Amino acid sequence: MSTETPSIFSRIIAREIPADIVHETDRVIAFRDIAPKAPVHLLVVPKTAAYSSVAELAAGDPALLAEVVATAQQLAREHADGDFRLVFNTGANAGQTVFHVHAHVLAGGLTEGTLAH
Ligand code: AMP
Repeated sequence: MSTETPSIFSRIIAREIPADIVHETDRVIAFRDIAPKAPVHLLVVPKTAAYSSVAELAAGDPALLAEVVATAQQLAREHADGDFRLVFNTGANAGQTVFHVHAHVLAGGLTEGTLAH
């Protein structure tokens, strides 16, 4: 059994803390970001806590990464016009604060030139 403290996303998956869940399968869950940065801002999160970054996920389970991307597309169609920006912050210096891999799905009237720096 892991002795690491579960991430906040593992606690959401375990229903230990609430979230506005919009999609769930055996392998992924999606919920609204608590501090939205776009009209639609969802997080797509693999249920496994085995991968902290998208690079690890790509190397370890590419089919699961593909499911994350397909889920993002489906949610962008359901919650916006189908267009979306997919962001994987990777590392603290890139803004990652939760080290349980997750995709930010940003949609709903994004304009060009708004990538933060
Ligand atoms: P990152 O900075 O890429 O690691 O993204 C973590 C994201 O998780 C941030 O956008 C937070 O706003 C979001 N977040 C943190 N806690 C929660 C929560 N309890 N429910 C929903 N989103 C959360």
